[in-house]
Amino acid sequence: MSSAEGRVVLVTGGNRGIGRAIAGRFVEEGYRVAVTARSGEGPEGTLTVRADVTDGAAVDAAFAEVEQQLGPVEIVVANAGITKDTLLMRMSEDDFDSVVATNLGGSFRVVKRASKGMLKARFGRVILISSVVGLLGSAGQVNYASSKSALVGFARSLTRELGARGITTNVVAPGFIETDMTAELPEATQAEYRKSIPAGRYGSAAEVAAAVTWLASDDAGYISGAVIPVDGGLGMGH
Ligand code: NAD
Repeated sequence: MSSAEGRVVLVTGGNRGIGRAIAGRFVEEGYRVAVTARSGEGPEGTLTVRADVTDGAAVDAAFAEVEQQLGPVEIVVANAGITKDTLLMRMSEDDFDSVVATNLGGSFRVVKRASKGMLKARFGRVILISSVVGLLGSAGQVNYASSKSALVGFARSLTRELGARGITTNVVAPGFIETDMTAELPEATQAEYRKSIPAGRYGSAAEVAAAVTWLASDDAGYISGAVIPVDGGLGMGH
């Protein structure tokens, strides 16, 4: 079996933004692709299942449905994430807990559930979508940056646990990516951000998707515990 043929992928939050681009790219490359979505649908050619990643039972049910329809999940992309930005002094416990429960806790639930099948198959690719701010830091994002840097410790610990079983775990750390979220920022703010990026431009969701599909491929089989930046140089040195 070649790298893509027949492999089953699950992408969380695949109905829009970066997750949707990742799911679409996997479809193009010939994988069998499922996405979780709380609303809407994944791109053409994907199976959409409902799940809120903060709910372990919902995650379990989503996996059961994917397994029944497509087979065991061999590649999992933990992409679902949220922000609730505010300065520390104004950050409520809920602002902190809900971001950590989604970005870090959601990755834990999804990857734990996926690992069962991967162990049996002695093959797996775990890809966690972090952010440049996880290691760079960002004022107003204590909750978000903490949840994203924690994914590095997660990936490196899991690499030590499962590395000998044919399972790789890596982190992709996007910088500023053109999405609905960034498009809403005032042009002056966007220009300010662009000045700080060595590449002089925002990235595209397609560029994140290209790094993710490469990590899932057989070519990346000896890469694990890595943090792959897709940030135009914004975070270098971290
Ligand atoms: P987005 O808001 O467009 O998409 C996020 C997706 O996650 C949506 O499908 C949403 O429904 C899903 N999601 C959120 N909470 C969920 C929950 N509790 N259960 C299930 N699904 C849930 O955002 P995006 O820009 O496409 O971001 C995708 C990932 O990339 C996120 O993890 C984000 O932190 C990360 N990221 C984005 C950027 C950027 O510039 N856009 C930069 C760095 C990292």
